[in-house]
Amino acid sequence: MIETNREFLTQINDAQSLQDKLKTSDRALFILYDQLNLKVFSQKLLDQKPLLIFVESLKYATAIPHHKQKLVYILSAQRHFAIACYNQGFPVLNLFTQGFHADAIAEFLEQHPQINLTYMQPSEWDTRSQMATLGNKFGDRISMIPNNFFIADVEKFKSKIKKGYRLENFYRELRKQTGYLMADGKPIGGMWNYDKENRKSLPKNISIPQIPIIEPDVITQEVIQLVKNYLPKNFGRLDQFGFAVTRDRALSLAQTFITTRLVNFGAYEDAIKVGEPFLFHSVLSLYLNNGLLLPQELCEMAIAAYEQKLAPLNSVEGFLRQILGWREYIRIYYEAQMPQVRESNYFEFTKDLPQLYWNADTDLLCLKDAVTHVLNYGYSHHIQRLMVLSNFSNLTNTDPRQLNHWFWVAYVDAYEWVELPNVLGMSTFADGGILASKPYVSGGSYINKMSNCCSQCKYDVKQKTGSSACPFNYLYWHFVDQHRDSFLENGRVSLMTNMYEKKTEDEKQAIRESSIHFIMNLKRGYFEYK
Ligand code: SF4
Repeated sequence: MIETNREFLTQINDAQSLQDKLKTSDRALFILYDQLNLKVFSQKLLDQKPLLIFVESLKYATAIPHHKQKLVYILSAQRHFAIACYNQGFPVLNLFTQGFHADAIAEFLEQHPQINLTYMQPSEWDTRSQMATLGNKFGDRISMIPNNFFIADVEKFKSKIKKGYRLENFYRELRKQTGYLMADGKPIGGMWNYDKENRKSLPKNISIPQIPIIEPDVITQEVIQLVKNYLPKNFGRLDQFGFAVTRDRALSLAQTFITTRLVNFGAYEDAIKVGEPFLFHSVLSLYLNNGLLLPQELCEMAIAAYEQKLAPLNSVEGFLRQILGWREYIRIYYEAQMPQVRESNYFEFTKDLPQLYWNADTDLLCLKDAVTHVLNYGYSHHIQRLMVLSNFSNLTNTDPRQLNHWFWVAYVDAYEWVELPNVLGMSTFADGGILASKPYVSGGSYINKMSNCCSQCKYDVKQKTGSSACPFNYLYWHFVDQHRDSFLENGRVSLMTNMYEKKTEDEKQAIRESSIHFIMNLKRGYFEYK
């Protein structure tokens, strides 16, 4: 039984045992950091008892200053998974490299010319490109199989991604394809979408079930120490790591969500409460995004809860829409739009990301609360990501590529394929409207409606301009004024331009002055976390 990292590193990487392992099969299977589930590999391949290769890449860990908890999560989950495979009788090899994953694989194949290697297509573009270069060098000895961690077929949907093909079209096709929440070809309940029931603000005294904290075992504790010792200046805090790092634990957290929080997930999915990072959200995306959990099983668990009357349809459909709809849709978008989308910047914003994203040092309470959650957990729920963090970035004319970079660094569930479409496509409109019909911008009143932040904030959400006014208010109208051309083109939001035009010249002048003063005085740039 392997219980510590020392045992893991010695037993799995022992040179003599490697020679024995290489005798058992001439086939190796490289399993990436976000592919931690043998269920998606074919039985035929697994029956060959291939040597399972895992790689710990220093360059991947340091290419950007990932949140410390994200690094602990990725590394500890991978080590736990490697041990689980070893305990199932697979020969396992764990490689460490100063370079990227592909560098370690190249070195291994050079040293062991009798070995043929299979790998599953990486989800992230850079890792995929690096692995692709190995094909030139090793030819037939290396083969790639399709990525099976998603439900939707990339080839079927990729060509549909263009302006006008929205989530709703895609989601309905997927519902029909899977039969999830369908009966006789029609959506159960008669409607595809229950969003109207899912925008409630949080009642004052509602009880929020806590998510169990998973105490780090010896292996995770050692990985925590490793990250603390070698990457102390990376983003985020590491004093309360409580995520699961094994499939069993992740499944039990999924079950807890289904039985305790799914019931209220739908109604309050857009709500924000100061000091409450999780509310009724599942906080399962990190387990989905590295393969510990599979999207089909989560959808089916939620549907079973509906059938057993444990959760209402608006909650279950809302949850399904997130996983079967949104998650699959943005993955297809990533496949269709990479790599050119990385540089997109529709509004041509050039300002650096405000420093508060790195240190939570701000008097704007909604922002302080959201960034504090990110520092503490590498997590904030989706509506804080959209309504607060992305909104503020847009309103302060921040380069969307810097916001994109920040999301990638800061969230434990962030891999490029998932955060890039959300940021450059959905929230900032950087792609010019391929994914979304408008940029996400709003004034303070919507934040006030959906949260309890404003009643405790230094700024007054009712005031429109001036030093005490909520900055979201004047910045919103300033944004409408600055980008009137794009707003006028868009039927959904041209109403806002018309409303702006009805303001008096004095009001417009006050909006301009407050906005320019605020934007000019905002501290920007990277803040090195200590
Ligand atoms: Fe945020 Fe404005 Fe509300 Fe303060 S008043 S919490 S800045 S929306």
